[in-house]
Amino acid sequence: MKKKYIIAGNWKMNPQTTEEASRIATTVKKVAIKSKKIDTVVCPPFVYAHLVKTADNFSLGAQNVSLEQSGSFTGEVSADMLKSVGVKYVIVGHAERRKMGETDEIVSQKIGAVVGAGLQVILCVGEKERDQNGDYLAVLKAQIIASLGKLARKDVKQLIVAYEPLWTIGAPVAMTPADVRETGLFIKKVLADTYGQEYALSVRILYGGSVTFKNAKDIVLLGQVDGLLVGRESINTEGFNLILKEIDGI
Ligand code: PEP
Repeated sequence: MKKKYIIAGNWKMNPQTTEEASRIATTVKKVAIKSKKIDTVVCPPFVYAHLVKTADNFSLGAQNVSLEQSGSFTGEVSADMLKSVGVKYVIVGHAERRKMGETDEIVSQKIGAVVGAGLQVILCVGEKERDQNGDYLAVLKAQIIASLGKLARKDVKQLIVAYEPLWTIGAPVAMTPADVRETGLFIKKVLADTYGQEYALSVRILYGGSVTFKNAKDIVLLGQVDGLLVGRESINTEGFNLILKEIDGI
């Protein structure tokens, strides 16, 4: 049976009230639970996690995690804590966190923490810019290899890769499906060289960067990805639910 598509919504540091967070979660849930082909993942700020009442096809995700397990780390939240509140997926290495100083080494340690807790990692990777010579491919490859660091072959089943070229995040337009397809294949090749073909093919590749209901279906179908990581549109319930309907209709 084909694996379900993953449509993950990264709410970032939004919304500002529990009332609105609750409204978004319940409105999305109504559509998500009816879908047959999607696991919808809602990634709210930690403080709103309890408002997301998970169900079949409707999972809770986190936007970040500590690389530490417990102890004197003020302000941090561990992978075990996330698991204990029902989190199933954890976004690691989002471009906005890398911008705040998260290195590939930190990302790789966070992946270790998430995998150790038995959760699924959504590893974000993506080049800052594209050049004519294709140097961005080397950049991407180095980032993937360094971020995966010590991830063992046996843990690859807990890995999902979200390809998010930085120049498409929060941008007016998304990447073309043709370019998504080409880069998705490249990422699979890097994974295959690292873990072997069979393991690489089991990793789901998502695309993220200015996804809306207008481009979602083409990106998934023509771009041949296994789902989407949605930023801004994830808190626009009308737009996000239309994305779910478009993908479920594939
Ligand atoms: C993101 O932040 O992961 C993202 C893809 O943002 P947006 O959809 O707003 O471009």
